[in-house]
Amino acid sequence: MGFAPQALIDHAALGHNLQRAREVAPHSRIWAVLKADAYGHGLERTARALSSSDGFAVARIDEALRLKRAQCQHPILITGGCYSREELQLAARHAFEIVLHQRQQIDLLDGFSPDQPLACWLKVDTGMHRLGFQPEEIEPIAERLSGHGAVRQLNLMTHLANADDLADETSRRQIASFDAIAPHHFTYRSIANSAGLLGFETAHREWVRPGIMLYGVSPFAGGRGEEEGLLPVMTLRSRVISVKQCRQGDPVGYGGSYRCPEAMPVAVIAVGYGDGYPRHAVNGTPVLVAGRRLPLAGRVSMDLISVDARDCPEIQVGDEAILWGRGLPVEEIAEKAGTIAYELLCGVTRRVEFIDQDIDRKGSD
Ligand SMILES: *Cc1c(COP(=O)(O)O)cnc(C)c1O
Repeated sequence: MGFAPQALIDHAALGHNLQRAREVAPHSRIWAVLKADAYGHGLERTARALSSSDGFAVARIDEALRLKRAQCQHPILITGGCYSREELQLAARHAFEIVLHQRQQIDLLDGFSPDQPLACWLKVDTGMHRLGFQPEEIEPIAERLSGHGAVRQLNLMTHLANADDLADETSRRQIASFDAIAPHHFTYRSIANSAGLLGFETAHREWVRPGIMLYGVSPFAGGRGEEEGLLPVMTLRSRVISVKQCRQGDPVGYGGSYRCPEAMPVAVIAVGYGDGYPRHAVNGTPVLVAGRRLPLAGRVSMDLISVDARDCPEIQVGDEAILWGRGLPVEEIAEKAGTIAYELLCGVTRRVEFIDQDIDRKGSD
């Protein structure tokens, strides 16, 4: 390992987390959600590691085409659907399953009768007020699409807005609204993201759509993946590149937002917002060095951060520093930066070297 940041991607942890989803929703098939470059983990490698999934869900057609170029044979669902006849033709040619969430997408199907008609997922807006048709629009649209030359199978889905909060009544209302729709037009139904899968058994249908939990992260506010039996997949690490002795009162970093409370060692680590470490991480955000949590000291720069090394006096240049992952939950770093783990994982930049790992935990823990 050099002196630049690396993202270690643990394939065994991906497999474990998928298995966890299967245990919790044993009667459902699984669309493993791989949008946004598999939440920043790398689309192709993640698809390979999750090959025992029943299918892969992505947001956009270019992501689906990337999977095809990587020889993916799994069913692929495009949750954003298609926006032109060309995209529809590609979807039909590759047997992608598509979501229909607004009127133009239905109209686009008029006069389209490909050799291989499409499996389509009608999206109903049960309360999120983002994508989807209103519940009362579903029946007439389903009528219009049944027997349509472009549609080989019609399915129904919705998306939960507040499932990360188990006490919130919104999910139960959304599920009830979904259940009020007459099912006879639909082969399969799907409601649950990770939070719905883990938190609401009544949201499990023929298909579930876990994303964040596959990457080892709890979908619940204030939660930790470990509490859900999940293993972290990405470990972001770098190295200490300088250690200096500062005097009491010395300001550290841009703007001098941190001042040394006493004479102390300050270690500089080669990672910054240019790599995807969050610039908004506050003083005190933990960084793991030699098994100890050292507090961030001063502002995050593009390439560098500084930490208060008083708890690790033997620290030296070359020591490994873990920014998140094994031993340091990404959820905790996200809280310290005023964001969510999804954003941190998606935000690791191309400057970071990605390394595939397959950690064998049998026997070790
Ligand atoms: C992203 C997404 C998911 C997965 O959500 P997680 O919270 O990551 O589990 C499921 N369904 C749809 C439609 C999505 O866009």
